[in-house]
Amino acid sequence: PGMLYVVATPIGNLDDITARALRVLREVAVIAAEDTRHSARLLQHFGVTTPLVACHEHNERDQGGRFLARLQGGEDIALISDAGTPLISDPGFHLVRQARAAGIRVVPVPGPCALIAALSAAGLPSDRFVFEGFLPAKTAGRLARLEQLKEEPRTLIFYEAPHRLLDCLADLERIMGSDRLAVMARELTKAFETFQGLPLGELRAWVAADGNQQRGECVLLVAGWQAPAENSVPAAALRVLELLLKEMP
Ligand code: SAM
Repeated sequence: PGMLYVVATPIGNLDDITARALRVLREVAVIAAEDTRHSARLLQHFGVTTPLVACHEHNERDQGGRFLARLQGGEDIALISDAGTPLISDPGFHLVRQARAAGIRVVPVPGPCALIAALSAAGLPSDRFVFEGFLPAKTAGRLARLEQLKEEPRTLIFYEAPHRLLDCLADLERIMGSDRLAVMARELTKAFETFQGLPLGELRAWVAADGNQQRGECVLLVAGWQAPAENSVPAAALRVLELLLKEMP
């Protein structure tokens, strides 16, 4: 049988395509793409003429059978998404699972991934982290999810659409508190790449004050929850204690 290659493509800067990705994209029989028109432009840029077939959220399960038949018939297939690594907040999971279940070799061809790029340069602890993908689109769902993540000690990573960025920051501030450190990583690998790290309250105000920060793609990273030291006394209690002590004979 053939092999299914899961190929990462650039998230902005086209120079980020890997030599191996280009070789695989040229050599396979067919490229399964999330959006064939979008990917046609990418392939044209690199002079890759391999035929494209759509494999997106809505046809992944049905189309899967056809891809499997081709793999079993000996053809190699490359799976790509619009940007970055397939399956990471992108289609491909059903196809990969079906292929593995059918005994097909699934081969990753690693490369760009927005969450890893953001984490690698944000300056937040990176030894342990949680990728949450996109938060629920509606406020109620978002608040409920954030409530569950409030005391997560690992660095939190979210993808967000530009038109929801401000609402999302407001909800993050509401649940995690205005003092929790966060980093916004915007337009990674592109001309206007921006990293801004501030406490959530200040970050929200900064983004609200500058319309340019509400455009383009962005990754939000939030520092993990830090348990207050067991024997630490809250500052307000200390002040009360101080006053009381002064009054004592
Ligand atoms: N599969 C992709 C990956 O490997 O990162 C992610 C696809 S997901 C549909 C798109 C989201 O990824 C965007 O909404 C944004 O949160 C993030 N993203 C993608 N490219 C980005 C970039 N150049 N800069 C910042 N965030 C990016």
